Amino acid sequence: MSGQEYIDRIYHNVVKKNQGELEYHQAVKEVLESLKPVFDKNPGYQKQKILERLTEPERVIMFRVPWVDDQGEIQVNRGFRVQFNSAIGPYKGGLRFHPSVYLGIIKFLGFEQIFKNSLTGLPMGGGKGGSDFDPKGKSDNEVMRFCQSFMTELYRHIGGSVDVPAGDIGVGGREIGYMYGQWKKITQSFEGVLTGKGLDWGGSRIRTEATGYGSVYFAQEMLKVRETDFKGKIATVSGSGNVAQYTVEKLNELGAKVVTLSDSSGSIYDPEGISGERFEYFLELKQLRRGRIKEYADQFGVEFRPNKRPWDIKCDLAFPSATQNEIDASDAQMLIDNGVIAVSEGANMPTTLEATNLFLAANVSFGPGKAANAGGVATSGLEMAQNASFSHWSRKEVNARLHEIMIGIHASAYAASKEYGQPGNYVLGANVAGFKKVAAAMIAQGHW
Ligand code: NDP
Repeated sequence: MSGQEYIDRIYHNVVKKNQGELEYHQAVKEVLESLKPVFDKNPGYQKQKILERLTEPERVIMFRVPWVDDQGEIQVNRGFRVQFNSAIGPYKGGLRFHPSVYLGIIKFLGFEQIFKNSLTGLPMGGGKGGSDFDPKGKSDNEVMRFCQSFMTELYRHIGGSVDVPAGDIGVGGREIGYMYGQWKKITQSFEGVLTGKGLDWGGSRIRTEATGYGSVYFAQEMLKVRETDFKGKIATVSGSGNVAQYTVEKLNELGAKVVTLSDSSGSIYDPEGISGERFEYFLELKQLRRGRIKEYADQFGVEFRPNKRPWDIKCDLAFPSATQNEIDASDAQMLIDNGVIAVSEGANMPTTLEATNLFLAANVSFGPGKAANAGGVATSGLEMAQNASFSHWSRKEVNARLHEIMIGIHASAYAASKEYGQPGNYVLGANVAGFKKVAAAMIAQGHW
């Protein structure tokens, strides 16, 4: 069977067996399309049924999460953990708390995580989890009771060398703290079973900043290939959460001017640049007051654009850092028409397949999430290493390692893109480089 026939058959089966899980279908399709030349060149993978095995999670756990709200009412949410692939290490991947969460979203994220973790060069398998719980508007006590109930079931499925969850949308330091406290209470053990922990109780320096910093480091490498840098470049950033915050910080440090931010209510456009006092205000607004991005516009008298994404604003660089499918084909066309030269996906799959293909055809340097945002999980890997050796590295040391890992991810994605005749196609490069290592490990370990 040709590479094309093989991937068509696999995709057809994935759609049939995972009905209605649109995001999962999309993530599989992107990877399969990139891998076609690999299957043409290496028919042995087909014999090993590598794609049949890779697209079927090793384990899917779904559970009830009951908790009591501040009015004394019982609430019931659904919890998930998809343990996708452990060929190269313990399952590793974040937990997402957002009302849109269902099995298809967790599977898409878990599937992406397999290749992302492989690209980091660290021994981590792929997994992802979460709940349809919405932390927004809940009191700290409600969030705590939810997290405790969530962990009361999840604890039996995770462990320092089994599965090590981290944060994602709706899961930051507060939620990790409540979950870790409950895990410790149940198991009477203090080990690195979650990453993103507080600095005084096993967390790694730079973990909070890592995804945003890493996405900028990846963009820096893409710019180097184009023989340019950040100085004087205009950047648009979407989102205003963890990833967006530290993307803006690093872009400012490296000389770019960031002019947009967004949340689920809309976006702000600040042509002066979100830096200095304005950046400090933004951090306080989001991290301490948990406010809405509109307040930034009110504070500094800049434009708030209700329900609008940032992509119509003219920029050189775009950093989608909010959520999946936030750049569609028309957004991509606007960015291209306005002269964008690089896009670095801080979020997971923020660009639709159609939009991705437009960027590639227009020769925009496009850093797919599984490469560009891998700095977060890489630093989680560094947190695991510190926990396992009872050590605590300095900020400088962790940042240097993160930077080195991002340079390495770029180099291996670029090398694979070159090997397959499309230098600078990082979608192809990241998928191929991430896949080959996992496939080799699966084959070496026999049929499981
Ligand atoms: P946060 O919860 O800290 O922030 C998410 C941001 O995105 C918020 O501004 C939120 O707005 C916005 N957002 C979320 N959902 C939507 C939506 N459906 N429509 C519009 N805006 C939305 O999450 P993170 O910053 O941690 O995560 C952002 C992205 O980065 C996700 O795709 C995540 O998977 C990815 N990522 C995160 C990593 C990490 O280390 N945290 C690692 C790798 C990838 P609002 O507050 O209004 O909901």
